[in-house]
Amino acid sequence: MHQPQECLQKLQDELRGLKEVLSVAQVVVSSLDLDEVLQNILCSAMGVMDMAAGSVGLYDETTGCLTLHAHAGLSEKFVSKKTWRVKKGGLTHRILEEGQLFIVEDTLDAPFFNNPLAVEEGIRSLIAVPLKMQEKMVGILYLDDFSPRQFPLDRLNMLSILGSFATMSVDNACLHERTQEMACTDGLTGLYNHRQFKQMFKEEMARTVRYQKPLSLIMFDIDNFKKFNDTYGHPKGDRVLQMVSQILRDSLRQCDLAFRYGGEEFIAILPETGIEEALIAAERTRSSIAEETEAGLSDFADHGVTASVGVASFPRDGNSADRLLQVVDDLLYKAKREGKNKVHHLPEKGA
Ligand code: GH3
Ligand code: MG
Ligand code: MG
Repeated sequence: MHQPQECLQKLQDELRGLKEVLSVAQVVVSSLDLDEVLQNILCSAMGVMDMAAGSVGLYDETTGCLTLHAHAGLSEKFVSKKTWRVKKGGLTHRILEEGQLFIVEDTLDAPFFNNPLAVEEGIRSLIAVPLKMQEKMVGILYLDDFSPRQFPLDRLNMLSILGSFATMSVDNACLHERTQEMACTDGLTGLYNHRQFKQMFKEEMARTVRYQKPLSLIMFDIDNFKKFNDTYGHPKGDRVLQMVSQILRDSLRQCDLAFRYGGEEFIAILPETGIEEALIAAERTRSSIAEETEAGLSDFADHGVTASVGVASFPRDGNSADRLLQVVDDLLYKAKREGKNKVHHLPEKGA
């Protein structure tokens, strides 16, 4: 029979734990900042288990790496490495494989606890909570202490709830990221969409004006695409759009930005790029489209597609975002009028 005092203490403990869980739940639903949520969950988990330190690492199956997203109570040296590859046979590998709550009451009795950094840190006991989303491991919440410990079962249950909150947050963040991505990219080609162009062009122009650097636009439109669709069908036309998008990506530098501007119209922003370099990129894109589509579509067509291209640079050809866009559009249509499959730009002033 428990003493009333003891019962009261137990109930108070449970109430404190539940309040903790509730406050974490509120953070989970109210914030989209994953790291903030994970930090909160970690601190609550440390409180619930009365542990001195801890960390949350998220696991990327494709790279086999764990990335640190939250930590507390650990030395700077210990947390200085933000991403590390999971070593086969190590503790993390074992936890990821087993996918179960993992407890080490005394690390001196655990021969697999052999990470030199963790040993040097003085970690003597730990709990690892696997973060599992529909059978897929998405990370690990680690709680650490610097002396050997034993852990009461009722607290471990509470910890599992916190672990599922962490998993939910990761799931939420992934969904949010995917929604954001869908909102700014084009489903067929994966390039940024028109709406994103408007926003990024404004931002890039502001940066360009501020730092007094040049910026170039390359705009192109596929020639006679209606006829291509009419001849080979819309799905084959879609394939062309995907092929052309990939050619555009390959023709640009990493820092350039490529967009599907409209149906079969594309635009690229080349920051810190003057007209000479932009013309080279534009010509490379035009000739690659002509050559690569001819080869790539040969299984059903006896010709590829071509594109007409306009190129304009700030400040050379227009001194505002609107003006530059107007100029590049006019140049593209000039290239159409003058026979298509061409790159057009404005001649040097006074030339
Ligand atoms: P021009 O050389 O003057 O550009 O002629 P065009 O035939 O390419 O131009 P037009 O504007 O007459 O036709 C554009 C065509 O692009 C018509 C439309 O069916 C096609 N198109 C637009 N979006 C898509 C798409 O998502 N998939 C496919 N397959 N075709 C598309
Ligand atoms: Mg066209
Ligand atoms: Mg068009």
